[in-house]
Amino acid sequence: MKSLIGIIGAGPAGCALACFLKEKNIDCIVFDEQQTPDIIVGESLTPAIIPLLRRLKIENRVAEVSQLKQGAGIRHNNGNRVNFRFRHFGKKYPDYSYNIPRPKFDGIMRERAKELGVRFINCRARVETSINDSNRDIQLTDETIAQAGLTRDQQPSLLVDASGRTRLFSKALKIPYTRGTRNDVSYFAHYENFECPSVSTGQVILTVLESGWSWQIPLKDRISVGVVLNKTAAKHYGKSSEERLENIINTDALLAKDGEKRQRISPVKSYQNYQLISEKGYGKGWVLLGDAFGFVDPMLSPGVHMSMTSAELLEKFVFNKSSPTTKDFDKYCDEYKKWYYAWEYLVQFFYNGRMLSMGEVRTKIQNNSALFSIPKLVEPYVSRVLTLLMSGIKTRSKLNQKILFHSSQQVANDPDRIAAHTIHSSLDNIKHGMLEKKDVIANNIKKTA
Ligand SMILES: Cc1cc2nc3c(=O)[nH]c(=O)nc-3n(C[C@H](O)[C@H](O)[C@H](O)COP(=O)(O)OP(=O)(O)OC[C@H]3O[C@@H](n4cnc5c(N)ncnc54)[C@H](O)[C@@H]3O)c2cc1C
Repeated sequence: MKSLIGIIGAGPAGCALACFLKEKNIDCIVFDEQQTPDIIVGESLTPAIIPLLRRLKIENRVAEVSQLKQGAGIRHNNGNRVNFRFRHFGKKYPDYSYNIPRPKFDGIMRERAKELGVRFINCRARVETSINDSNRDIQLTDETIAQAGLTRDQQPSLLVDASGRTRLFSKALKIPYTRGTRNDVSYFAHYENFECPSVSTGQVILTVLESGWSWQIPLKDRISVGVVLNKTAAKHYGKSSEERLENIINTDALLAKDGEKRQRISPVKSYQNYQLISEKGYGKGWVLLGDAFGFVDPMLSPGVHMSMTSAELLEKFVFNKSSPTTKDFDKYCDEYKKWYYAWEYLVQFFYNGRMLSMGEVRTKIQNNSALFSIPKLVEPYVSRVLTLLMSGIKTRSKLNQKILFHSSQQVANDPDRIAAHTIHSSLDNIKHGMLEKKDVIANNIKKTA
């Protein structure tokens, strides 16, 4: 494919694709609306991204501004905690990743693309459905075409939607989508003097909350703290995003303790809509990339890796061909969906309480089982499988998925323990024993005020 490619969005997906196209001498332009928020979600990366950073020759630059990350952990207010430490898996994948300041990371990606000769058009791209052109479903508006210094008859041969959760093309073309079951909202900010009880360098901590979960991501000079919870439950914590984030921290025993001396040093940002994938990934003259195609639940931090992987997949299946066919686009879409559903499969073990229940059993085995007992011998193998699934390296491995499934059935089989560790997606949990949610929260807030 040799003609001009128009990429909308200069996030990790758009920039990675632009770099890969330049490597192949394929001409492209990137529309960049140049939003520079203080903070952007997508700060914790999985080890599977490292080969991509190396391919783009930006790992050193990323390392310079980022916090090295060697693992992740999930904890519960009942004292249960599971730690994962990344492991080597062959030469390609190291046993680490990074926690990145996103605006700086995106800046590095843009800088790299510019070094390779990519042209950025600094404007918000607008599109419209094509009425008179049977070769395309969608086109840039006259105004946007003009901003790129092109004329009406110079529409890019392929438009790539890398606009992230804006989902520019899907909205314009009314593409149906499939949503996950959760109906969550997220609030996050950066803090100083917020403790992060990591047990390995840069370990990201997830904490189970009453109607959701939270993250603590250690960055170089600060901690990113975010909460993800059911939208209806969120309303009970206050009116504004700031109030809600602060009250959620104050009413969770673990977070309140870690954040006792905290100072917020950024505005609070809020995100909505989770777990969504478009049913169609391409059409006449267009294709979807990264989050614009589908965004997976953020609990296990797969987003940035997924978005850059989608660029690599598009390059592999479509741009490697001189005249790609619909079959090539289909292969691209299938591969992306496989990634999406693999992460979705994995994350459910965290939401449904099985991962923490398995962790509880793991701790018992480590502390109590006889040295050469079967559990003691099997446990390191299962732990390795779990870490490989979580690190993005073997997330799509059917074998690893089966091992996870069967070991969780075998080991985490106490319904009460599982229920105790479930991360609820609605206020249903209130029916199971708690007082009226509103009152519980109101009382807690009063106590901590
Ligand atoms: C609460 C939450 C927590 C998350 N945590 C993590 C995490 O820890 N780790 C992780 O890897 N991922 C995480 N993610 C996901 C991650 O943020 C995304 O998957 C990732 O940013 C997707 O990259 P992208 O390039 O596809 O889209 P984006 O990063 O959204 O980039 C899209 C770009 O397009 C631009 N744009 C939009 N419309 C236009 C237009 N019309 N014209 C020009 N430009 C336009 C936008 O300004 C933006 O720069 C999280 C997501 C959420 C919601």
